[in-house]
Parts: sequence; structure tokens; C-alpha cells
Amino acid sequence: MPLKSPQDYVQSLNDGRVTYWDGEKIADITKHPRFRVPIALTANDYKYDDPEFGDLRRYKTEDGGDAHRIYQIPRNTEELNKRVELLSHTSIGTAVSSVFMALMSVKDQVAAVNPQYAENIERMYRYCRDNDLRGAEVITDPKGDRKRRAHEQDDPDLYVRIVERRKDGIVVRGAKLHITAASVIHELVVMPTKGMRQDETDYAVSFSVPVNTKGVSIINRNFAPAELNEFDYPASSHHSMPEGFVVFDDVFVPWDRVFLAGEVQLASKLAQSLGLWERTGGVVGAVESSELFVGLAQLVTEMQGKESDPVAQASIAELITYAQMLKMSLDYACRHYERTESGMVFPNTLAINAAKYYYAANYHQTVKYLHDLSGGLVLTLPSEADLRNPESGKYIRKYLHTKPNVDVEQRMRVYNLIRDLTADAYGGWHFVVALQAGGGLPAQRFMMNRIYDIRRAKEKALRAAGVRI
Ligand SMILES: Cc1cc2nc3c(=O)[nH]c(=O)nc-3n(C[C@H](O)[C@H](O)[C@H](O)COP(=O)(O)OP(=O)(O)OC[C@H]3O[C@@H](n4cnc5c(N)ncnc54)[C@H](O)[C@@H]3O)c2cc1C
Repeated sequence: MPLKSPQDYVQSLNDGRVTYWDGEKIADITKHPRFRVPIALTANDYKYDDPEFGDLRRYKTEDGGDAHRIYQIPRNTEELNKRVELLSHTSIGTAVSSVFMALMSVKDQVAAVNPQYAENIERMYRYCRDNDLRGAEVITDPKGDRKRRAHEQDDPDLYVRIVERRKDGIVVRGAKLHITAASVIHELVVMPTKGMRQDETDYAVSFSVPVNTKGVSIINRNFAPAELNEFDYPASSHHSMPEGFVVFDDVFVPWDRVFLAGEVQLASKLAQSLGLWERTGGVVGAVESSELFVGLAQLVTEMQGKESDPVAQASIAELITYAQMLKMSLDYACRHYERTESGMVFPNTLAINAAKYYYAANYHQTVKYLHDLSGGLVLTLPSEADLRNPESGKYIRKYLHTKPNVDVEQRMRVYNLIRDLTADAYGGWHFVVALQAGGGLPAQRFMMNRIYDIRRAKEKALRAAGVRI
């Protein structure tokens, strides 16, 4: 199959999918203003001939076909580095297809339990790759009372479960929450949210279904109103993507699309495989945004004549430390990569978890330095409409003057970006995303405790304490 064009992608979304937003059931999302930005963002990644990106977006598969690089299974450092580069130039609507990297990374372990599931994983991966489709990472269950297991909840559907096993497939019921880009991709790739025990076999379920499958509906939410002007909202007007409650109301899944149906020993393996790729994406994004924060901090400082002020310099040094620690962590994770039995290369698990943890745990206080440097204008800067009104605009230009060579309009653009990125629509979203997307802080702590070489550290401590071992 040839690669899709942006237009092919947009048309493919008008397939009868059931989608709600702001109380409206939307018949054709491709014509609805709410979806304009998310669809345009994702469509942009289908521009394979964009000279700016060279061959970054495409690669040759082992069968000699062309495919989007999001599907390339890295087999060496160069391919892993290309993937990281791609992720920093790709919308989240495309990046979520990393869910197939997660599935392919555990395929060998799945094969050891049930070779048919492993074949299904491989076939679905090739089907989506060769048809240039996108898949969402559909993991997080509503989970009800967190103290109780899946089968102990008041409502048995609070975790996605198998309600019927048939000769030709399974029927599933439940919901997955917060699913990024669910309405603007093609396949919902479902995995268990965590490990399951022997009495939770119906909840150990993984599969993939097209978004327009009977019984699937998506309720969307997003931080940005449909139309935001570019001047006042330089980030939100371009970067919004809906998250959705994805409901499975007795959805039939044929066996050839099932990756797990009851084998509880595989549930945590599938759940954890995605964590790594989600966190890698989060760290790649954090490397980009932290460098941007340094640039913004330096700009406001210079524009206000504070560049030689030691307090300002100290704040900028804090922002640089944060940015550089993230950059070095990502670099380390890629250099010290790991490899699956079948030769897939993936970033160092401990390093990615430590990096994602560092990013999330320090994000809020790091943003504080940027706010401290910028002053109250972060919140009170008048809007573009007031700037363009000749009467109010004249006062704005007069009173936002700082020194020669600082253009007021440029100064406003810098402030608008700081506000939008850190203290308004996109910024509010990012404040929570930094913590929760890819799992909360405890999820990374759990992984670090599990995989750090504690024995070595203990031996070192014993030797240092003079204890013979
Ligand atoms: C913008 C956004 C996009 C997202 N995109 C996706 C996506 O594409 N796909 C997807 O599957 N998920 C997605 N998520 C979900 C995200 O992974 C979860 O929000 C995150 O894992 C936390 O789960 P939760 O929201 O259910 O909150 P909770 O489970 O309530 O967790 C909140 C905190 O409580 C802790 N906690 C949970 N249970 C217990 C317990 N029993 N005892 C003590 N502490 C506990 C958690 O570790 C966490 O720190 C997204 C989330 C956001 C905000």
C-alpha cells in the first residue's frame, strides 16, 4: 500500500466513529471546528515530501515498502537516535503509535505463553504500518476504589473485561480514560493497566479494534477552545490534542485481533512495556520544552535590562541545569540501550525512568524560576485586540517600552508564549501532564526500585563500612 497523503488521512477519519465533545455527538469530525487543530497537526506528519525533514518521516521496511518511521523497530544506535529525533518533530497524534513498539518489545515473551497472540501482534503491527494507520495507547482504566482489585469493585466494569468468550472472538466491556488522540487515530490498542492476579483472568485482556467498531464511543476533552488566536495563544492555538474517555459497550473482538485473553502472567509485562515508550516520549518533549524555557528566560531578562543582575543569572542557571540534566539523561539512555531477544533496541529502562521522574518531580519548581524572572505581565499583558485598537494600542506601546532595540510587539509575543506555555490553557494542561502522563511519580519509583542494581550498591556500602564480603 502506498503511503497516505494528508488528505487521505483526513478522509479516513470520516468513517462513522462515535465521538462526543461539549455535549454534541459529532457526525463527521473532519468538518468540525473542535477537531481542526488536532487533525491538522496529525495530518502534517503525513507530509512525507516536506524538504525540511528529508527522510526523517519515512523508512524502507524489510519487505522493501515505504512506511512512516514511527513504525521502524530500532535495531542499532543510529535507528534509535533517528527515532528520538523523529519524536521531537512529531505531533502526539502520530507519536502515540509507539504503542506498537511496546507490543513488539514483548512479543517474544508473549510467544512463550501463546504463539497465536504473538502472531496477532506481528500481523496487527504490519497491517497498521503497511496501511499507514495510527494507533492510540489505550491503557488507563477508571479503576474505581484504588484499594480494591479489579474484580472487587462495586461495578465489575471499572476495569475493561471480557464478558463473553465465543468461538470467533471475545466480547469486551468497560472504559479507558484520558486516551490521547483517541478520536483522531485509526486503531485503539488496548492493554491492561497493571498486573492481574489469578482471580482476575477476565481483566487480563489486550486487543486492537478500529475506532469505528460497533459499541465504541469516545467522549473528548481538551484544554483549548476551538478557536484561539495565534498572537495571544502561540502554543495552544497550534498544539492542542483531545484526550478521550473511550467506552467499550460490549464490543466484539475477533480472535485474530486479540493479544491477551486471560493469561494473567502477561498482564504486567504488557502494561510495563508501554510505560517505557510513553516515558521516552515524555522525556523527549521535556528536553525540547526545557531548552525553550531557558531561551524565554534569557529573552525576558535582556528585554527588561536585567541581564547582568546576579539574581537573574542564578535563576537562568537553575533553568539551564534542568534542561541539561534532561538532555544528558536522554543521551545516556540511548547510548546505554538495551536489546530484546529478537534484536529490538530500546532506551535504557532505568535511565528513562530516572529521567522521567526528574522531569516530573522538578517541573513545577523549575517553571517558578521563569515566572519569577518574568514578573506580573505573564498574567496581565493586554490582548492583541487592545494592541491593534489605535487608542489603547498607543498606551500599550508607550508603557511596555523598556529600552531601545526592544520591539514592544516582540516583547508581547515572548510574554504570551510564557503565559500560554506555563500559566494558561496549554500551561495548565502541562502542569498535570508532566506528573501524570506515562504514569505518576510512584510508577517511576516502583520501576527504579525494581531494576536498580541494589545488590551492587549494598556490597559497595558494606565494603566502605569495612565489612568483609
Ligand atoms: C493529559 C493526559 C494524557 C494521558 N494520556 C493517556 C493515554 O494516551 N493513554 C493512557 O492509557 N493513559 C493516559 N493518561 C493517563 C495517565 O497515565 C494516568 O492519569 C496516570 O497513570 C494516573 O492514573 P489516574 O489518572 O487513574 O490516577 P490515580 O490512579 O488516581 O493516580 C493518582 C496518584 O495516586 C497514586 N495511586 C494510585 N493508586 C494508588 C493506591 N492504590 N494507593 C496509593 N496511591 C495510589 C498514583 O500512583 C498517582 O500518583 C493520560 C493522562 C493525562 C493527564
